[in-house]
Amino acid sequence: MESFSRLWIWRYIKHKLPWYYDVSTNRKPAKYLIASRVRANINLRDSSEGELWREFDEATKEFLDLWGKVRNGEVDIRNVPKSEPSLLDLITEIARRMLRHCEFCEWRCRVDRTGGRRLGVCMLDSVSRVSTYFHHLGEELPLRGTLGSGTIFFTSCNMRCAFCQNADISRDRFNGVPVTPRDLASIVVLLRLEGVHNINWVGGEPTPNLHNIVEAIDLLAKHGMKILDQLGEEDYEHILSVKADFLPYNFNKGWAMYGNEVNVPMLWNSNFYMTPESLRLLRVVMDIWLPDFKYGNDKCAFRISRTPRYFEVVSRNHKVVYDWGEDMIIRHLVMPNHIECDTKPVLKWISDNMPGVLVNIMDQYRPEHETDPHSSHYNPEFRELARRPSRDELMEVYRYARDLGLNFELISFEKKIDIRYLGDPDSLVDRLNGDY
Ligand code: SF4
Repeated sequence: MESFSRLWIWRYIKHKLPWYYDVSTNRKPAKYLIASRVRANINLRDSSEGELWREFDEATKEFLDLWGKVRNGEVDIRNVPKSEPSLLDLITEIARRMLRHCEFCEWRCRVDRTGGRRLGVCMLDSVSRVSTYFHHLGEELPLRGTLGSGTIFFTSCNMRCAFCQNADISRDRFNGVPVTPRDLASIVVLLRLEGVHNINWVGGEPTPNLHNIVEAIDLLAKHGMKILDQLGEEDYEHILSVKADFLPYNFNKGWAMYGNEVNVPMLWNSNFYMTPESLRLLRVVMDIWLPDFKYGNDKCAFRISRTPRYFEVVSRNHKVVYDWGEDMIIRHLVMPNHIECDTKPVLKWISDNMPGVLVNIMDQYRPEHETDPHSSHYNPEFRELARRPSRDELMEVYRYARDLGLNFELISFEKKIDIRYLGDPDSLVDRLNGDY
């Protein structure tokens, strides 16, 4: 983990991601370990959903107080006993109840996903499926670090982006293998023992899988490393069947532990089209947020991603997480011919509402799926998206972002030019000009 702590980029951005850095390097316990110490003063089984939410609000206040004390060093949770039932048990129970009238995301389908008779827009019943999991070495440098981001790809999605680069995963809900919360918790432990710097919940979209994710995190807090003892040979074979990398990673307990508990930051890598209820549950277990902010207007969002009320919902969620003071990196993908209608309004909104936040302005858009003229799925309705963004478009975006004063240059350019030798990181746009 030493090599991760010594990455050059921390010199510039550690103050933007302080909690994530401390948890990733095991200087602090992940939020889920703190939440496991907060008691839920309620009978989980016999209480109504409304009563569970009221207790959740009380317990969250206690959690935030305890988290603050852990952050400033007043409390060492290794000296605080775990609670039963805990705030994590409460979150798990609430998510289970929500599944019966699913409102995890803003489609608010209100279908009972436990029966499997009616499905919502995401096309998922109660079962989650994992397409692959692996050490992702392509994420932003603070996330991929030196040993990768522990990425778990769920199938299916609640958006229908015409250009989806993961359409095989997001459009095919039967891709991958079904997983239980115990399987997920085991995957988390195995990845962390192999040195990943975070657990990157992604898809498709993780939101429809929220119930299984929070239960997995609850199991992780309860059993830690012992969760692996519960796995038989067949269970191992089952989860290893979707591991996408078998590089010679060593198992190192020292990478994984805070005291005698498994510790790893949880990362929510999402389209951010979730409800405020989901966001509130996730607040207690996510240590860092990686939201997408794609569209600057609802018309483009509906035409290209078939998603209504996009801007209102996604901007609201970004602002909520920012106002909570959480660690986050926003991703914006630059799309050809959508600079004026999408990129500029998104960047302007971020600059007006979330000053100082880290932004990754991504240039890797390429035509895929319905926007790819070579694909059998190509739809000429999207012909303006059938090319990569031009150099002129990208440079215009970068200059616009710089004029707004956005904090994007290090995160966006770290793979393109060797920033370490460029001196002042504030002037990277001009230096990049020659590299495009
Ligand atoms: S997760 Fe969203 S799309 Fe899926 S059933 Fe629930 S509300 Fe509908």
